[in-house]
Amino acid sequence: MTHAAYDCDVLVIGGGIVGLSTAYALTRTAPGTRVTVLEKESGPARHQTGRNSGVIHSGIYYPPGSLKARYAVRGAAEMVEFCAEHGIAHAVTGKLIVATERSELPRLHALVQRGRQHGLPVRELGPAQIAAYEPDVRGLAAIRVGTTGVCDFPAVAARFATEVVAAGGVIRHGSEVVSVDRRPWGVAVRTADGAVVRARVLVNCAGLHCDRVARLAGDEPGMRIVPFRGEYYELTRPELVRGLVYPVPDPAFPFLGVHLTRGHDGGVHVGPNAVPALAREGYAWPVVRPRELADALTWPGTWRIARRHWRYGAGEVRRSLSKHAFTAAVRRLLPDVTEADLRPAPAGVRAQAVLRDGTLVDDFLIREAPHTVHVLNAPSPAATASLPIGREVARRALLQARETGWKPPAVESGHCV
Ligand SMILES: Cc1cc2nc3c(=O)[nH]c(=O)nc-3n(C[C@H](O)[C@H](O)[C@H](O)COP(=O)(O)OP(=O)(O)OC[C@H]3O[C@@H](n4cnc5c(N)ncnc54)[C@H](O)[C@@H]3O)c2cc1C
Repeated sequence: MTHAAYDCDVLVIGGGIVGLSTAYALTRTAPGTRVTVLEKESGPARHQTGRNSGVIHSGIYYPPGSLKARYAVRGAAEMVEFCAEHGIAHAVTGKLIVATERSELPRLHALVQRGRQHGLPVRELGPAQIAAYEPDVRGLAAIRVGTTGVCDFPAVAARFATEVVAAGGVIRHGSEVVSVDRRPWGVAVRTADGAVVRARVLVNCAGLHCDRVARLAGDEPGMRIVPFRGEYYELTRPELVRGLVYPVPDPAFPFLGVHLTRGHDGGVHVGPNAVPALAREGYAWPVVRPRELADALTWPGTWRIARRHWRYGAGEVRRSLSKHAFTAAVRRLLPDVTEADLRPAPAGVRAQAVLRDGTLVDDFLIREAPHTVHVLNAPSPAATASLPIGREVARRALLQARETGWKPPAVESGHCV
């Protein structure tokens, strides 16, 4: 097929932070490459990117060598630089990880070792030092990680979008991809309004819908997204918390555990409580989508998680339904908090990839198929790590584009010649 017959070189599905970072990386590494982003919502960052804790994670939790560790450690530094360069609200505040029970101390010490393996600035604190940082927080011991921060991820995503458009890329909102036709020359996708876009390479960054998009393309991804809703409260007395305070993570669910985060806007979020969502974009209990629910319930991995972790899940559901129980969980870290101090805040839904055998995919997962790159697991800390993830996905997409005869465009002064 001739160059002119393609509508673009690389087509990205999903205008969240990962899709937009990929488009940004494409326009940076190969200026003049024709990039189109299709996003079903009327603006960027309407799902996970716009409904998260806003924390620039240090990478301390992740096993050395994992993509999460590599991309979070590097991505955190790059995110701070990007925000500073573009005038986006951010702060490097550091964070405390606090042990409230003796049984947590060995895991806290293991985190100190891991942080040092990653080259992170980690300090061990006793109760008096905890009080110096956070007078209202109680704990037996803590560590302070210096590189953690906060930022405005929706503003970052919006800035990626602005840069992509300035570099000649196209971003179409209100464009839901409903079919993908793979051909020897590339892919043709159709949107709900009947438009067809032909591209050399398709990049799937559809977040909560990434497995469905993979299947639209004819690829069985071997995983399903099982959506978990993270429910939050906001502290009506934000002065109780100065920065970021986390419990020692449970190794089975490192992303869980109620934490306290003072955001870039000064508000303090308390949560999340994690419960199964009854729709992929199920931001509250009444939001139920029978087809999506059936998708999750017919996946054997969902039942295996339920069997393995039902006790843990029951506790989360109890805290979801009872503010009293939720407040009791918060009091472990913040003893003075009362139910009246907690006001409901918007929830987010986590796109968690689950394998057939019930394994929760821990690391980022990027898979390739002909003319296609699928991002199949990009939960936290993917917003922090979005710059390195975007570069890696872009690199793979451009290698695939070469197989269709694409060559890096000759560029002068940023314009295609
Ligand atoms: C509760 C919660 C707290 C979190 N806290 C943090 C944190 O503090 N720090 C951190 O680094 N990370 C955090 N994360 C993780 C982070 O938010 C995500 O990793 C990141 O936003 C993922 O970005 P994404 O672009 O992959 O997904 P999304 O932002 O969900 O974007 C995917 C996009 O694809 C679009 N789409 C889907 N299907 C189609 C289709 N068929 N056609 C067109 N468009 C489609 C969707 O509309 C959506 O806009 C948190 C996540 C949650 C849920």
